[in-house]
Amino acid sequence: MLQLHTTKIECLTTSSEEAFIARLSENDQYPLPLRGKEIFLAPETHSGKLPDGFRAYFILRKNLDSVEANQDFPNVFIIPNDQHYLRDGDVIRFDPKRIKLHTLYRKNSQHNSLLVTERCNNYCLMCSQPPKDIDDSYIVQDLLVAIPLMRRETEEIGITGGEPTILGDDLIRILRALKNYLPSTSVHILSNGRNFANIDLARKVAGVKNHDLMIGIPLYADISNIHDYVVQADGAFDETIKGIMNLKRHGVKVEIRVVIHKQTYERLPQLAEFLARNLLFVDHVALMGLEMMGFTKANIDELWVDPIDYQPELVRAIDVLARYNMNVSIYNHQLCLLDKRLWPFNTKSISDWKNEYMPECEPCTLKEQCGGFFSSALFKYSDHIQPFSESEMPTKNAPQPTL
Ligand code: SF4
Repeated sequence: MLQLHTTKIECLTTSSEEAFIARLSENDQYPLPLRGKEIFLAPETHSGKLPDGFRAYFILRKNLDSVEANQDFPNVFIIPNDQHYLRDGDVIRFDPKRIKLHTLYRKNSQHNSLLVTERCNNYCLMCSQPPKDIDDSYIVQDLLVAIPLMRRETEEIGITGGEPTILGDDLIRILRALKNYLPSTSVHILSNGRNFANIDLARKVAGVKNHDLMIGIPLYADISNIHDYVVQADGAFDETIKGIMNLKRHGVKVEIRVVIHKQTYERLPQLAEFLARNLLFVDHVALMGLEMMGFTKANIDELWVDPIDYQPELVRAIDVLARYNMNVSIYNHQLCLLDKRLWPFNTKSISDWKNEYMPECEPCTLKEQCGGFFSSALFKYSDHIQPFSESEMPTKNAPQPTL
């Protein structure tokens, strides 16, 4: 969720309104009766008076001279020029009194994720969104207003937290809203899976029958004490395994997510064996690089291992999973650090808005194919980034390295 800082938007005319959810529209011909749920985003081409009836008006500072703001309208705001990522069709939460804006949904992004709560029942060493014990139930109400405003053709929506299952029946309400308003949208929930140990919750989630629902659940080791240590919760491993079983029993697709770091890399091959022997029926396994966000920075000494140093374990793990025909991918890794035998499994997975490349990448001939870095990787990344040159480009007929 993006936040525009309060200091950057300026108020041109006064407002006493409470925060509200609205969609941005650049269409000054938008039907008048429907404008109440829209904020007019004055496009580059707009000139003259603002159109009537919109809930609020955003004018880019650079357009200010060409747009004649109607001083009788409430809620006219000037947006800084560098905030031009706002687009027609985006859905935001806007607080006119505090001049605060959150982007909830970006129409042109393939990576929309709804943060449904900041509360969590785990306290993972590398949590990228550290949990807060607060009453944030307003988020659900906001999302129930926002979902009908999203583009019906949206391909995928993520649900994240905190731990989404903490919402209980409110999570079901969100899933129902997604099914009703975005019936062909794939839904991917990130959950620690523990609350699905309660089979009623698994049954209710399955009962919504969302189009193409998948639940991504982390599992950090084949043995409980390592998993429980990583998530800082006794008994979490047993509950998570039970949760995965319950979801599959009700036909819900499950993805296992393994973040690779100092606490998890050594037993990756054993974890792969465990998955192949006990959870062969899961739908996808993602082996993921570390994101330098939230608690990761504070726990960096306990977590950091250079990806180049865990290639042998990663190769063995992928080898096991592939031999058992499990659907496996590598996320958040840089091609120049990966053993070439792993390249066929590598996926460009980092959301567009936090995807970066380092200065070392500039001359690299495989930049297009490489997943790059999280923007947070500036905090710490491998010393072994090595750009590829023309001569190393794989040729079409070259034999693929095999495991
Ligand atoms: S040099 Fe940069 S772009 Fe090239 S493979 Fe390495 S990380 Fe990727």
